[in-house]
Amino acid sequence: MSDKPTVETHRFLEQATVGIVHATPEGHILRCNAEFAEIIGYPREEVRGLMFQEITPDEDGAQCITAFQKLWNGAMDALSLEIRLIRKDGTRTWAKLTVSLLRDREGWPSHLLAHVEDVSNRKKLETPEAIAAEVAVVPAPAQPIAAKEDRYRSTFETSPDGVLIARTADGRILDTNPAFLEMMGFTREGVIGRTSLELGIWADDGDRLKISEALEGDSGCRNLEIRMRRKNGEVFWGQLSASFAEFQGEPCVISYIRDVSEAKADEEKIRNLAFYDTLTGLPNRRLLYERLRQALLSSIRSGSKHALLFVDLDGFKSLNDTLGHHIGDLLLQETARRIQGCVREVDTVARLGGDEFVIVLEDLSQTPEIAAAHARTVGGKILAVIDQPFLLEGRECHTTSSMGITVFGNQNESANEVLQQADIAMYQAKAAGRNAMFFFAPALQASVNARVALERDLREAIRENQFSLYYQPQLDRGLLTGAEALIRWKHPERGLVKPEEFVPLAEETGLIFQLGTWVLETACTQLAAWANRKEGAHLTIAVNVSAREFRQARFVDHVLAALDRTGANPNNLKIELSENMFGENVEDVIAKMNKLKSHGVRFSLEDFGTGYSSMTYLKRLPLDQIKIDRAFVGEILRDPISGAVAQAIISFGKAMGLSVIAEGVETEEQRAFLAKLGCHSFQGFLFSHPLPLGEFSEN
Ligand code: C2E
Repeated sequence: MSDKPTVETHRFLEQATVGIVHATPEGHILRCNAEFAEIIGYPREEVRGLMFQEITPDEDGAQCITAFQKLWNGAMDALSLEIRLIRKDGTRTWAKLTVSLLRDREGWPSHLLAHVEDVSNRKKLETPEAIAAEVAVVPAPAQPIAAKEDRYRSTFETSPDGVLIARTADGRILDTNPAFLEMMGFTREGVIGRTSLELGIWADDGDRLKISEALEGDSGCRNLEIRMRRKNGEVFWGQLSASFAEFQGEPCVISYIRDVSEAKADEEKIRNLAFYDTLTGLPNRRLLYERLRQALLSSIRSGSKHALLFVDLDGFKSLNDTLGHHIGDLLLQETARRIQGCVREVDTVARLGGDEFVIVLEDLSQTPEIAAAHARTVGGKILAVIDQPFLLEGRECHTTSSMGITVFGNQNESANEVLQQADIAMYQAKAAGRNAMFFFAPALQASVNARVALERDLREAIRENQFSLYYQPQLDRGLLTGAEALIRWKHPERGLVKPEEFVPLAEETGLIFQLGTWVLETACTQLAAWANRKEGAHLTIAVNVSAREFRQARFVDHVLAALDRTGANPNNLKIELSENMFGENVEDVIAKMNKLKSHGVRFSLEDFGTGYSSMTYLKRLPLDQIKIDRAFVGEILRDPISGAVAQAIISFGKAMGLSVIAEGVETEEQRAFLAKLGCHSFQGFLFSHPLPLGEFSEN
């Protein structure tokens, strides 16, 4: 396991009011919080690396390790034990350890988590041994009770634990204390002379049996957790310890009962925090992995197939942003309820976080096709219920969802793989237009693997500087006016890779920030170099900037810094923007453009006419140039609509005082046609392909 706690774990560790320790099954302490260090009186930095055996008496240490091993081997899920801890100064303290096993994402045991509570105060005053010692514990019948009667009485009367003394022979209660009466709601008269069975204080028959079994040995029992019933019928968790003693000359069982409902509720809360999502109450990622692991195991045994449905709400982010997080939370809670209404009780509905839900449908069939059919039916129901309007605090909202489904239960699958498969299918559903479900297909996996490899290579390429900038000439009435800078990746094995293959991935992964900075710096350096030559001083370079790059808060600063560092003339730098970046937050885009414009930077808008730009805001953009997309240019001679679009763009440009350039011009006929329409700036294979710097400069 990683020794580094996550931020979340770290916060949890530090805020906890109980000691928390992570340990190996051998007792090696991996980390702890300040509270634990305090309990054992060690400086925090000395605790890591200690063994439990070093901070416990031999007998208790051995008890710990046995318990740890049992948990690790899966013999039980959680357990609690009381042990003595040896503090650094040699003094001892009693602690209650509640230990559970944590697993990694794959479901393998990762480490043990112990909550440690210092119970030394309780132990000092209230242990059964302490009180029993006052009552002449067996085998010491010779000691007369009367001799210690006073001390016994006061301890007995003031004990915060309920005490019950019952005759061994017939179970009749001979004495009890105020704490017991208060806890259970009985009067003294109602208790004395009766049996616990008559009082009905054991809520579960099984527990009563557990106590009898525990009492079969001579040593009594310690800290049994059982469910008890008060006189008014209310059931609560009690902790019971019992020992044999002689009372009023008769062999008796003395029971000490503590109401631990609150501690149990706290424990439950901690468990819930660890395994359940606080917003929806659904199992969280960790519990989901556990259930998946169990489902995979059950497949190995029974051969049955299960399905995992990965659901993501469409457009949740913008709904959350526009209506507020409170409404977003309500929507998630209602979605959780609706999904739960579509599945059986045995199925798992989990929330992974954000607007992602996962449903595991177990034991659908041994035949994958039948399992898939079941999953499709349930998936359809879920899509339909989410598609219904939501009424949230009087406001009607509507959302849809996209779903990926995978049928699993084959050998050698891991929980991670299953989840990833459904995730991939979910993305397919999103790409297919949302409000849809897709089944995972192995071909998808291949493309995902390729993507992962590409991303790895891309990161390496950035480290190794495997990029170069090509320049495609731009001409006006036959004269060179500048170039568009186009990035190329010189892949060590694959040769020259075109940007279409890696720019979208770079955008998705954020690597575009590094790439974009490099392109900008390189282009500006080139502009500065040309400026030193008379014949090159007028040349411009058009640099492509992705929407994601442009949206960076510090984009303007980056551009100005590149200009400043290289000494390039801002008037010769042309930033090419594409229509798709005006979808969201147009005001921000315009503000950034204006800022750069005020420094002399120019703007060209490409893909013009292919997007959904509204003329009203296009008019507000401080543009210098618009580009006729190569898709129109390519069709211009064959398709009258492309011709009409080109004509409209040229007219619009003229009306707005913008220059118009046609890209992708491949033939003389296309050039002549465009020239007749009034466009005289061109870029395309007819003139030149994009060229490496050396070749460009020679031309
Ligand atoms: P784009 O901005 O539309 O770039 C023009 C693309 O058209 C270039 O493809 C160019 O090689 C190609 N092209 C030029 N003339 C012709 C022609 O006559 N016929 C045809 N069929 N194609 C022609 P390339 O270099 O593969 O770039 C593709 C896209 O990748 C670019 O489209 C641009 O969106 C993006 N890109 C390229 N370099 C960068 C970069 O440095 N940063 C960012 N963000 N994107 C870049």
